[in-house]
Amino acid sequence: MKLQEFHAKRLLLAKGLPVPHHTVAETAAGARLAAEPYFAGGAEKVVVKAQVLVGGRGKAGGVKLASTPEETEQVATQILGMDIKGTTVGRVLIAPAADIAREFYLACVLDRSSRRILLMGSAEGGVEIEDIAASNPDAIKQVHAHPHLGLLDYQARTMAFAMGLGGPHLRDFVTIAQGVYRTMIDNDADLVEINPLAIVREVTADGSTRESLQCLDAKITIDDSALTRHPELELMRDVAEEDPVDVAAREEGISFIRLGGTIGCMVNGAGLAMTTMDLIKRAGGEPANFLDIGGGAKADKVAAAMSLILADSHVRAILVNIFGGIARGDEVAHGLVDARGQQERHVPMVVRIVGTNAAEAARILAESGDPDIQTAATLDEAVARVVAVASAAAVPA
Ligand code: GDP
Ligand code: MN
Repeated sequence: MKLQEFHAKRLLLAKGLPVPHHTVAETAAGARLAAEPYFAGGAEKVVVKAQVLVGGRGKAGGVKLASTPEETEQVATQILGMDIKGTTVGRVLIAPAADIAREFYLACVLDRSSRRILLMGSAEGGVEIEDIAASNPDAIKQVHAHPHLGLLDYQARTMAFAMGLGGPHLRDFVTIAQGVYRTMIDNDADLVEINPLAIVREVTADGSTRESLQCLDAKITIDDSALTRHPELELMRDVAEEDPVDVAAREEGISFIRLGGTIGCMVNGAGLAMTTMDLIKRAGGEPANFLDIGGGAKADKVAAAMSLILADSHVRAILVNIFGGIARGDEVAHGLVDARGQQERHVPMVVRIVGTNAAEAARILAESGDPDIQTAATLDEAVARVVAVASAAAVPA
Protein backbone atom coordinates (compact mmCIF):
# COMPACT_ATOMS: atom_id res chain seq x y z
CA MET A 1 0.00 0.00 0.00
CA LYS A 2 1.41 3.37 -1.02
CA LEU A 3 1.13 6.26 1.39
CA GLN A 4 0.50 9.86 0.44
CA GLU A 5 3.44 12.19 1.04
CA PHE A 6 1.82 13.83 4.07
CA HIS A 7 1.14 10.44 5.65
CA ALA A 8 4.69 9.29 4.91
CA LYS A 9 6.03 12.46 6.48
CA ARG A 10 3.97 11.77 9.58
CA LEU A 11 5.77 8.44 9.98
CA LEU A 12 9.15 10.14 9.50
CA LEU A 13 8.29 12.81 12.08
CA ALA A 14 7.32 10.06 14.52
CA LYS A 15 10.93 8.84 14.27
CA GLY A 16 12.24 12.34 14.91
CA LEU A 17 13.42 12.95 11.35
CA PRO A 18 13.78 16.55 10.10
CA VAL A 19 10.69 17.25 8.01
CA PRO A 20 9.64 20.87 7.36
CA HIS A 21 6.35 21.99 8.92
CA HIS A 22 3.46 21.54 6.52
CA THR A 23 -0.33 21.69 6.22
CA VAL A 24 -2.75 19.83 3.96
CA ALA A 25 -5.57 21.68 2.16
CA GLU A 26 -8.41 20.50 -0.04
CA THR A 27 -9.46 23.88 -1.41
CA ALA A 28 -7.61 26.88 -2.83
CA ALA A 29 -9.02 29.07 -0.05
CA GLY A 30 -7.79 26.51 2.47
CA ALA A 31 -4.35 26.61 0.85
CA ARG A 32 -4.26 30.37 1.28
CA LEU A 33 -5.25 30.08 4.95
CA ALA A 34 -2.55 27.46 5.45
CA ALA A 35 0.07 29.72 3.84
CA GLU A 36 -0.71 32.88 5.82
CA PRO A 37 1.02 31.86 9.05
CA TYR A 38 4.11 30.78 7.10
CA PHE A 39 4.38 34.19 5.44
CA ALA A 40 3.62 35.91 8.76
CA GLY A 41 6.45 33.86 10.28
CA GLY A 42 8.92 35.22 7.74
CA ALA A 43 8.79 32.70 4.89
CA GLU A 44 9.61 34.31 1.55
CA LYS A 45 7.87 31.59 -0.40
CA VAL A 46 5.73 28.54 0.18
CA VAL A 47 5.71 25.36 -1.83
CA VAL A 48 2.36 23.91 -2.98
CA LYS A 49 2.51 20.17 -3.69
CA ALA A 50 -0.11 17.89 -5.25
CA GLN A 51 -0.87 14.93 -2.98
CA VAL A 52 -1.14 12.00 -5.36
CA LEU A 53 0.37 8.54 -5.22
CA VAL A 54 2.21 8.79 -8.53
CA GLY A 55 5.82 9.96 -8.79
CA GLY A 56 7.26 12.79 -10.85
CA ARG A 57 4.78 15.37 -9.64
CA GLY A 58 7.38 18.11 -10.01
CA LYS A 59 7.86 17.47 -13.73
CA ALA A 60 4.10 17.19 -14.23
CA GLY A 61 3.54 20.68 -12.79
CA GLY A 62 2.23 19.43 -9.45
CA VAL A 63 4.88 21.21 -7.32
CA LYS A 64 4.95 25.01 -7.45
CA LEU A 65 6.24 27.91 -5.41
CA ALA A 66 4.22 30.98 -4.39
CA SER A 67 5.35 34.32 -2.92
CA THR A 68 2.14 35.62 -1.31
CA PRO A 69 -1.05 34.17 0.20
CA GLU A 70 -2.91 35.36 -2.93
CA GLU A 71 -0.47 33.63 -5.23
CA THR A 72 -0.73 30.49 -3.06
CA GLU A 73 -4.45 30.48 -3.71
CA GLN A 74 -3.91 30.91 -7.47
CA VAL A 75 -1.30 28.16 -7.61
CA ALA A 76 -3.52 25.83 -5.55
CA THR A 77 -6.39 26.56 -7.97
CA GLN A 78 -4.15 25.37 -10.82
CA ILE A 79 -2.97 22.25 -9.03
CA LEU A 80 -6.26 21.12 -7.45
CA GLY A 81 -8.23 19.23 -10.07
CA MET A 82 -5.12 18.80 -12.23
CA ASP A 83 -4.68 15.39 -13.82
CA ILE A 84 -1.31 13.80 -13.02
CA LYS A 85 -0.76 10.50 -14.83
CA GLY A 86 -4.46 9.69 -14.64
CA THR A 87 -5.04 10.80 -11.05
CA THR A 88 -7.05 13.92 -10.23
CA VAL A 89 -5.46 16.04 -7.52
CA GLY A 90 -7.81 16.50 -4.56
CA ARG A 91 -5.38 17.75 -1.91
CA VAL A 92 -2.28 19.90 -1.72
CA LEU A 93 0.46 20.12 0.86
CA ILE A 94 1.59 23.63 1.81
CA ALA A 95 4.99 24.22 3.44
CA PRO A 96 7.45 27.08 3.78
CA ALA A 97 9.67 26.72 0.70
CA ALA A 98 13.08 25.36 1.52
CA ASP A 99 16.10 27.21 0.16
CA ILE A 100 17.83 24.20 -1.34
CA ALA A 101 21.63 24.14 -1.59
CA ARG A 102 21.97 20.49 -2.73
CA GLU A 103 19.65 17.57 -3.32
CA PHE A 104 20.37 13.93 -2.46
CA TYR A 105 18.58 10.63 -2.80
CA LEU A 106 18.18 8.27 0.15
CA ALA A 107 16.06 5.14 0.42
CA CYS A 108 15.63 1.85 2.19
CA VAL A 109 14.30 -1.07 0.17
CA LEU A 110 13.91 -4.76 0.80
CA ASP A 111 16.61 -6.57 -1.17
CA ARG A 112 15.12 -10.02 -1.56
CA SER A 113 18.17 -11.54 -3.23
CA SER A 114 20.41 -10.74 -0.27
CA ARG A 115 17.55 -11.12 2.24
CA ARG A 116 18.50 -7.84 3.85
CA ILE A 117 17.42 -4.26 3.96
CA LEU A 118 19.35 -2.18 1.48
CA LEU A 119 20.16 1.46 2.01
CA MET A 120 20.58 3.29 -1.29
CA GLY A 121 21.97 6.78 -1.57
CA SER A 122 23.01 9.14 -4.30
CA ALA A 123 24.42 12.62 -4.59
CA GLU A 124 22.23 12.98 -7.68
CA GLY A 125 18.97 13.60 -5.85
CA GLY A 126 15.80 15.31 -6.97
CA VAL A 127 15.35 13.33 -10.17
CA GLU A 128 13.71 9.93 -10.17
CA ILE A 129 15.94 7.03 -9.19
CA GLU A 130 15.11 5.18 -12.41
CA ASP A 131 16.69 8.06 -14.33
CA ILE A 132 19.86 7.96 -12.22
CA ALA A 133 20.00 4.17 -12.55
CA ALA A 134 19.78 4.46 -16.33
CA SER A 135 22.12 7.41 -16.89
CA ASN A 136 24.73 6.84 -14.18
CA PRO A 137 24.29 3.62 -12.19
CA ASP A 138 27.61 4.12 -10.38
CA ALA A 139 26.15 7.21 -8.76
CA ILE A 140 23.87 5.00 -6.64
CA LYS A 141 25.67 3.76 -3.53
CA GLN A 142 24.48 0.67 -1.67
CA VAL A 143 24.91 -0.52 1.91
CA HIS A 144 23.16 -3.57 3.35
CA ALA A 145 21.96 -3.25 6.94
CA HIS A 146 23.03 -5.97 9.32
CA PRO A 147 20.22 -8.55 9.52
CA HIS A 148 20.19 -8.59 13.34
CA LEU A 149 21.92 -5.42 14.45
CA GLY A 150 20.25 -3.08 11.97
CA LEU A 151 21.91 -0.16 10.23
CA LEU A 152 25.11 0.35 12.20
CA ASP A 153 26.74 3.73 12.73
CA TYR A 154 29.75 2.88 10.60
CA GLN A 155 27.50 1.70 7.76
CA ALA A 156 25.60 4.98 7.79
CA ARG A 157 28.90 6.88 7.85
CA THR A 158 30.18 4.82 4.92
CA MET A 159 27.08 5.87 3.00
CA ALA A 160 27.51 9.51 4.00
CA PHE A 161 31.09 9.58 2.68
CA ALA A 162 30.06 7.77 -0.50
CA MET A 163 27.44 10.47 -1.08
CA GLY A 164 29.89 13.27 -0.38
CA LEU A 165 28.18 14.20 2.88
CA GLY A 166 31.06 14.52 5.31
CA GLY A 167 31.87 17.40 7.60
CA PRO A 168 29.09 19.27 9.34
CA HIS A 169 26.31 17.01 8.00
CA LEU A 170 27.83 13.67 8.91
CA ARG A 171 26.24 13.29 12.31
CA ASP A 172 22.79 14.38 11.10
CA PHE A 173 23.01 12.07 8.12
CA VAL A 174 23.70 9.07 10.38
CA THR A 175 20.64 9.95 12.48
CA ILE A 176 18.50 10.33 9.34
CA ALA A 177 19.70 7.10 7.70
CA GLN A 178 19.03 5.16 10.90
CA GLY A 179 15.63 6.86 11.24
CA VAL A 180 14.75 5.82 7.70
CA TYR A 181 15.78 2.27 8.55
CA ARG A 182 13.65 2.31 11.76
CA THR A 183 10.70 3.71 9.80
CA MET A 184 11.05 0.75 7.44
CA ILE A 185 11.28 -1.87 10.20
CA ASP A 186 8.69 -0.52 12.64
CA ASN A 187 6.02 0.00 9.96
CA ASP A 188 6.74 -3.17 7.94
CA ALA A 189 7.42 -0.97 4.94
CA ASP A 190 9.02 -2.33 1.79
CA LEU A 191 10.16 1.10 0.65
CA VAL A 192 11.03 4.32 2.45
CA GLU A 193 12.35 6.91 0.02
CA ILE A 194 13.47 10.49 0.66
CA ASN A 195 13.97 12.32 -2.62
CA PRO A 196 15.15 14.92 -2.19
CA LEU A 197 16.99 14.77 1.06
CA ALA A 198 18.28 18.32 0.85
CA ILE A 199 20.86 20.60 2.36
CA VAL A 200 18.66 23.57 3.18
CA ARG A 201 19.89 27.10 3.96
CA GLU A 202 18.15 28.90 6.80
CA VAL A 203 18.60 32.41 8.10
CA THR A 204 18.78 32.37 11.88
CA ALA A 205 17.47 35.06 14.26
CA ASP A 206 20.83 36.83 14.36
CA GLY A 207 20.89 37.13 10.56
CA SER A 208 23.53 34.48 9.93
CA THR A 209 22.79 31.52 7.70
CA ARG A 210 23.08 27.89 8.65
CA GLU A 211 22.63 24.73 6.65
CA SER A 212 20.78 21.58 7.69
CA LEU A 213 19.61 18.33 6.16
CA GLN A 214 15.85 18.12 5.59
CA CYS A 215 13.52 15.46 4.21
CA LEU A 216 11.62 17.44 1.57
CA ASP A 217 9.76 14.57 -0.04
CA ALA A 218 8.76 11.15 1.26
CA LYS A 219 7.48 8.02 -0.38
CA ILE A 220 6.58 4.97 1.71
CA THR A 221 4.96 1.71 0.71
CA ILE A 222 3.74 -0.72 3.35
CA ASP A 223 3.83 -4.48 2.90
CA ASP A 224 0.16 -5.34 2.33
CA SER A 225 0.55 -8.65 4.12
CA ALA A 226 1.65 -6.82 7.28
CA LEU A 227 -1.25 -4.38 7.40
CA THR A 228 -3.18 -6.48 9.88
CA ARG A 229 -0.43 -5.58 12.35
CA HIS A 230 -0.87 -1.86 11.69
CA PRO A 231 -4.52 -0.80 11.93
CA GLU A 232 -3.36 2.83 12.25
CA LEU A 233 -1.70 2.58 8.82
CA GLU A 234 -4.72 0.91 7.25
CA LEU A 235 -6.57 4.15 8.07
CA MET A 236 -4.15 5.99 5.75
CA ARG A 237 -5.30 3.97 2.76
CA ASP A 238 -6.45 6.18 -0.10
CA VAL A 239 -9.18 4.12 -1.72
CA ALA A 240 -9.98 6.91 -4.18
CA GLU A 241 -6.56 6.50 -5.77
CA GLU A 242 -6.50 2.74 -5.90
CA ASP A 243 -7.49 0.71 -8.91
CA PRO A 244 -11.22 -0.08 -8.30
CA VAL A 245 -10.46 -3.69 -9.19
CA ASP A 246 -7.89 -3.92 -6.38
CA VAL A 247 -10.38 -2.39 -3.93
CA ALA A 248 -13.08 -4.87 -4.96
CA ALA A 249 -10.67 -7.82 -4.72
CA ARG A 250 -9.61 -6.84 -1.21
CA GLU A 251 -13.22 -6.44 -0.09
CA GLU A 252 -14.07 -9.90 -1.45
CA GLY A 253 -11.00 -11.47 0.15
CA ILE A 254 -9.66 -12.56 -3.23
CA SER A 255 -5.94 -12.36 -4.04
CA PHE A 256 -5.85 -10.70 -7.43
CA ILE A 257 -3.00 -9.21 -9.41
CA ARG A 258 -3.49 -7.90 -12.91
CA LEU A 259 -0.75 -8.93 -15.33
CA GLY A 260 -1.61 -7.67 -18.79
CA GLY A 261 -2.16 -10.86 -20.84
CA THR A 262 -5.35 -12.11 -22.50
CA ILE A 263 -6.21 -15.24 -20.51
CA GLY A 264 -8.11 -14.65 -17.29
CA CYS A 265 -7.35 -17.17 -14.54
CA MET A 266 -9.69 -18.31 -11.77
CA VAL A 267 -7.92 -20.76 -9.49
CA ASN A 268 -8.12 -21.89 -5.88
CA GLY A 269 -4.85 -21.88 -3.98
CA ALA A 270 -1.84 -19.66 -4.61
CA GLY A 271 0.43 -22.53 -5.63
CA LEU A 272 -2.05 -23.91 -8.11
CA ALA A 273 -2.60 -20.39 -9.47
CA MET A 274 1.15 -19.98 -10.04
CA THR A 275 1.35 -23.38 -11.72
CA THR A 276 -1.60 -22.54 -13.92
CA MET A 277 0.07 -19.32 -15.07
CA ASP A 278 3.32 -21.16 -15.78
CA LEU A 279 1.50 -23.73 -17.91
CA ILE A 280 -0.32 -21.01 -19.84
CA LYS A 281 3.02 -19.34 -20.58
CA ARG A 282 4.56 -22.64 -21.61
CA ALA A 283 1.68 -23.25 -24.00
CA GLY A 284 2.31 -19.87 -25.64
CA GLY A 285 -0.39 -17.84 -23.89
CA GLU A 286 -0.23 -14.82 -21.61
CA PRO A 287 -2.10 -14.83 -18.27
CA ALA A 288 -4.18 -11.71 -17.68
CA ASN A 289 -4.04 -12.09 -13.93
CA PHE A 290 -3.10 -14.04 -10.88
CA LEU A 291 -6.26 -14.94 -8.97
CA ASP A 292 -6.53 -17.10 -5.88
CA ILE A 293 -10.18 -17.43 -5.01
CA GLY A 294 -9.28 -18.83 -1.58
CA GLY A 295 -10.33 -21.95 0.25
CA GLY A 296 -13.92 -23.17 0.34
CA ALA A 297 -14.91 -20.99 -2.62
CA LYS A 298 -18.65 -20.40 -2.64
CA ALA A 299 -20.90 -19.28 -5.50
CA ASP A 300 -20.76 -15.60 -4.55
CA LYS A 301 -16.95 -15.67 -4.50
CA VAL A 302 -16.96 -17.21 -7.96
CA ALA A 303 -19.22 -14.45 -9.25
CA ALA A 304 -17.00 -11.78 -7.68
CA ALA A 305 -13.90 -13.37 -9.21
CA MET A 306 -15.55 -13.41 -12.63
CA SER A 307 -16.34 -9.69 -12.34
CA LEU A 308 -12.72 -8.92 -11.46
CA ILE A 309 -11.45 -10.88 -14.45
CA LEU A 310 -13.95 -9.44 -16.93
CA ALA A 311 -13.30 -5.86 -15.79
CA ASP A 312 -10.07 -6.21 -17.80
CA SER A 313 -10.90 -5.47 -21.43
CA HIS A 314 -7.83 -7.40 -22.64
CA VAL A 315 -9.28 -10.71 -21.44
CA ARG A 316 -10.33 -12.91 -24.37
CA ALA A 317 -10.79 -16.24 -22.59
CA ILE A 318 -10.97 -17.53 -19.02
CA LEU A 319 -9.39 -20.63 -17.56
CA VAL A 320 -11.08 -21.96 -14.44
CA ASN A 321 -8.89 -24.43 -12.58
CA ILE A 322 -10.38 -25.71 -9.33
CA PHE A 323 -9.07 -28.46 -7.15
CA GLY A 324 -12.02 -29.47 -5.02
CA GLY A 325 -10.96 -30.16 -1.48
CA ILE A 326 -12.85 -27.99 0.94
CA ALA A 327 -14.19 -26.15 -2.10
CA ARG A 328 -16.96 -28.24 -3.63
CA GLY A 329 -16.97 -28.64 -7.41
CA ASP A 330 -20.76 -28.42 -7.71
CA GLU A 331 -20.80 -25.19 -5.72
CA VAL A 332 -18.19 -23.65 -8.03
CA ALA A 333 -20.05 -24.88 -11.13
CA HIS A 334 -23.29 -23.29 -9.91
CA GLY A 335 -21.37 -20.12 -9.22
CA LEU A 336 -19.95 -20.09 -12.74
CA VAL A 337 -23.32 -20.59 -14.39
CA ASP A 338 -24.95 -17.90 -12.21
CA ALA A 339 -22.07 -15.50 -12.81
CA ARG A 340 -22.42 -15.92 -16.58
CA GLY A 341 -26.01 -14.80 -16.22
CA GLN A 342 -24.99 -11.69 -14.30
CA GLN A 343 -22.29 -10.60 -16.76
CA GLU A 344 -22.90 -8.59 -19.90
CA ARG A 345 -19.58 -9.44 -21.48
CA HIS A 346 -19.12 -13.08 -22.40
CA VAL A 347 -15.80 -14.64 -23.32
CA PRO A 348 -15.09 -18.33 -23.92
CA MET A 349 -14.36 -20.24 -20.74
CA VAL A 350 -12.50 -23.50 -20.25
CA VAL A 351 -13.26 -25.21 -16.96
CA ARG A 352 -11.30 -27.93 -15.23
CA ILE A 353 -12.76 -29.01 -11.91
CA VAL A 354 -11.38 -32.07 -10.13
CA GLY A 355 -11.81 -33.46 -6.63
CA THR A 356 -14.87 -33.12 -4.44
CA ASN A 357 -18.10 -33.43 -6.46
CA ALA A 358 -16.31 -33.12 -9.80
CA ALA A 359 -18.84 -35.34 -11.60
CA GLU A 360 -21.68 -33.22 -10.26
CA ALA A 361 -19.86 -30.11 -11.46
CA ALA A 362 -19.46 -31.54 -14.98
CA ARG A 363 -23.18 -32.34 -15.10
CA ILE A 364 -24.18 -28.82 -13.99
CA LEU A 365 -21.93 -27.20 -16.60
CA ALA A 366 -23.19 -29.52 -19.38
CA GLU A 367 -26.82 -28.92 -18.46
CA SER A 368 -26.36 -25.17 -18.45
CA GLY A 369 -26.22 -25.35 -22.26
CA ASP A 370 -23.94 -22.31 -22.25
CA PRO A 371 -22.09 -22.41 -25.60
CA ASP A 372 -19.17 -20.43 -24.14
CA ILE A 373 -18.38 -23.03 -21.49
CA GLN A 374 -16.08 -25.94 -22.35
CA THR A 375 -14.91 -28.50 -19.85
CA ALA A 376 -11.56 -30.26 -19.79
CA ALA A 377 -10.58 -33.41 -17.96
CA THR A 378 -6.92 -32.59 -17.43
CA LEU A 379 -4.99 -29.42 -16.78
CA ASP A 380 -2.83 -29.85 -19.90
CA GLU A 381 -5.93 -30.19 -22.03
CA ALA A 382 -7.55 -27.17 -20.37
CA VAL A 383 -4.46 -25.02 -20.95
CA ALA A 384 -4.10 -26.08 -24.60
CA ARG A 385 -7.75 -25.26 -25.25
CA VAL A 386 -7.79 -21.91 -23.52
CA VAL A 387 -4.66 -20.77 -25.35
CA ALA A 388 -6.29 -21.83 -28.64
CA VAL A 389 -9.59 -20.03 -28.01
CA ALA A 390 -7.83 -16.89 -26.73
CA SER A 391 -5.71 -16.61 -29.85
CA ALA A 392 -8.73 -17.30 -32.07
CA ALA A 393 -10.92 -14.72 -30.31
CA ALA A 394 -11.18 -11.33 -31.96
CA VAL A 395 -9.28 -8.49 -30.33
CA PRO A 396 -11.90 -6.50 -28.39
CA ALA A 397 -12.54 -3.04 -29.80
P1 GDP B 1 8.17 14.68 -6.94
O1 GDP B 1 8.47 15.35 -8.24
O2 GDP B 1 6.83 14.01 -7.00
O3 GDP B 1 9.24 13.74 -6.52
O4 GDP B 1 8.05 15.83 -5.82
P2 GDP B 1 9.16 16.52 -4.88
O5 GDP B 1 8.57 16.82 -3.59
O6 GDP B 1 10.40 15.69 -4.85
O7 GDP B 1 9.46 17.88 -5.60
C1 GDP B 1 10.08 17.94 -6.87
C2 GDP B 1 11.13 19.02 -6.87
O8 GDP B 1 10.55 20.26 -6.51
C3 GDP B 1 12.25 18.81 -5.87
O9 GDP B 1 13.26 17.98 -6.35
C4 GDP B 1 12.73 20.21 -5.63
O10 GDP B 1 13.67 20.57 -6.64
C5 GDP B 1 11.48 21.03 -5.81
N1 GDP B 1 10.99 21.37 -4.47
C6 GDP B 1 10.24 20.60 -3.64
N2 GDP B 1 10.06 21.22 -2.45
C7 GDP B 1 10.73 22.40 -2.54
C8 GDP B 1 10.95 23.49 -1.65
O11 GDP B 1 10.51 23.51 -0.50
N3 GDP B 1 11.72 24.52 -2.12
C9 GDP B 1 12.25 24.54 -3.36
N4 GDP B 1 12.99 25.59 -3.74
N5 GDP B 1 12.06 23.54 -4.23
C10 GDP B 1 11.31 22.50 -3.83
MN1 MN C 1 10.53 13.57 -4.99
